[in-house]
Amino acid sequence: MRRSHSGGHPRTPGLLVRLLALSLAVAACAVGATAWLTGRNTSRQLQGDLERTLEGDAAIYQALLGFADGQPTWDGVDKLVDQLAAKTGQRIALTTPDGHLLADSAGTDPDRPRLPRTPAAVVDPFSPALNLLPAGTAASAAAGKAIGDGLSAKEHDERAAMARKAAGCFIRSGYPARVNDDPLSSPAVIWEKAPQPVIVSCIPTELSTPTEKEVSINAAIKQLSAECFDAARQTGEASATAAADCQAKADRAVRDPYVADPALLFLGEGADRYQASWDPRDARTVGTVLAVLLATVAVTLIAGRRLARPIHALTAAVQRMEAGDRSARVPMKGRRQDEVGRLAHAFNAMAVSMEENERQRQAMVSDIAHELRNPLTNVRGYLEGAQDGLVPLDDALIASLLEESTLLSRLVDDLQDLALADAGRLHLHPELLDAADLVEQVTAAHRAAAAVAGIAMTAEVSGPLRIEGDPGRLRQVLGNLVGNALRYTPAGGEVTLTASADDGAGQALITVVDTGSGIAAEHLPHIFERFYRADASRSRETGGSGLGLAITRYLVEAHGGTIEAQSTEGAGSTFTIRLPVAV
Ligand code: ADP
Repeated sequence: MRRSHSGGHPRTPGLLVRLLALSLAVAACAVGATAWLTGRNTSRQLQGDLERTLEGDAAIYQALLGFADGQPTWDGVDKLVDQLAAKTGQRIALTTPDGHLLADSAGTDPDRPRLPRTPAAVVDPFSPALNLLPAGTAASAAAGKAIGDGLSAKEHDERAAMARKAAGCFIRSGYPARVNDDPLSSPAVIWEKAPQPVIVSCIPTELSTPTEKEVSINAAIKQLSAECFDAARQTGEASATAAADCQAKADRAVRDPYVADPALLFLGEGADRYQASWDPRDARTVGTVLAVLLATVAVTLIAGRRLARPIHALTAAVQRMEAGDRSARVPMKGRRQDEVGRLAHAFNAMAVSMEENERQRQAMVSDIAHELRNPLTNVRGYLEGAQDGLVPLDDALIASLLEESTLLSRLVDDLQDLALADAGRLHLHPELLDAADLVEQVTAAHRAAAAVAGIAMTAEVSGPLRIEGDPGRLRQVLGNLVGNALRYTPAGGEVTLTASADDGAGQALITVVDTGSGIAAEHLPHIFERFYRADASRSRETGGSGLGLAITRYLVEAHGGTIEAQSTEGAGSTFTIRLPVAV
């Protein structure tokens, strides 16, 4: 019965669809893993780069902090930013805390690369990033000293020049000196161990005395701070912390006009670049991923079709066979010897064997019908003749009828044996036997029939020959062989049975030898097949059904033995049985 697809069976997706899903999953995993690995390597590389540029970053930060400390606004910072960018090779950008661009070394073109997501630092002289300042300046910077000293950039430069000159003066006098490098302090000269006269002669008064602005700033801070502390005292909150607080507040309030507002510093075209290459919004990344997936689909479709085609051919062949076309085969032309190719091959082999089985089955049915028809026709003919009074119903007729019915029952017995053998239900009842005895018994049983046919029958046995077997079945085997020998041997011939031991092989050897008609070489290989008869005439005198030798071989093999036939046409035949000796 053919099963229909709509008959309630859940339809599993086709081979191609499953293959496609599998390939896509593999491709997606591969793309994901590659992205992850690359991202990891990139962030490591990025970290390395950051460490390398930390020093440069500090220099940029200090320069910008100095700028912020020198003037109230960021106006004109773009020049400094460009200079620093040119010197460090980094992209530098400054924005206000709310994102308004103050300066960008990458220009102001709207298509320029985006800024990194997070700023590298906040540039605020009132709260400087201590880790980005030179060691030693941190303390004074933290105390807020010298920030917003009211010097304009020009005055600052003049003072720096003076400080450099003074340092030169010290050095020339033989005392080491240098200019302070603190971006948050007013330029000053630092010396060691110089005597008072040298100090006085080297440091100009302008450098040693604070400017008017500085004086007024300090006074304003002092006043504001005192007011604040007084107010705190009135509310009873006077403490060391309150004093420090008031000082800081006053400091910031007074100096604020001389200091630029805090700004965010963005560094590094590098960070931007790394980010861009793995940003999922990046069209190139998306395009590459899509191209990989598309290629996967294309390759899978092509490969899948090639794979599915022979399976379709196979399915078509099976369906044709199911529909009753026994000659259905999978076309093998140009087929490769891969798994599917081998499957197709196996299918074709199975189809051939099924066809052969079917042919044999049909032949067997027709053989059986034929075998049954002969004796039945004879019986009917005799009986009709008797009824019509043409043949007398005498002993001779009864003997003929008996002979036909014997033939019929022998045929039915044989068929039953074969059917049992085919079903694996022909059971043996083995016991220990003497093969020599068995041969003598069978010879004795057929001696009378042989005498009637004018054939000499002898048995040649040597000693007891112990085997294990079913005595009834072994008698049937020898009876078949002797029956054939007598049937195909003319009067005056000889039939000899032998039983001997083949010690070398541990076998008992039983032969049935006759001097009869023999079997032609072309028939010899087939005589053990069912219904095979060498004599096409199927004459009744020699009439067997052609099943005897098939059953004989089956029984011998069921005993663990073998049987073979040798024959010379016109001279006689020898059937040799080998059975394992019992231990
Ligand atoms: P059958 O019942 O016809 O004898 P078997 O299966 O016993 O069938 O034998 C098959 C065929 O083998 C016989 O038809 C006959 O042609 C040939 N054959 C068997 N035994 C002999 C023999 N001893 N001498 C000659 N031909 C034989």
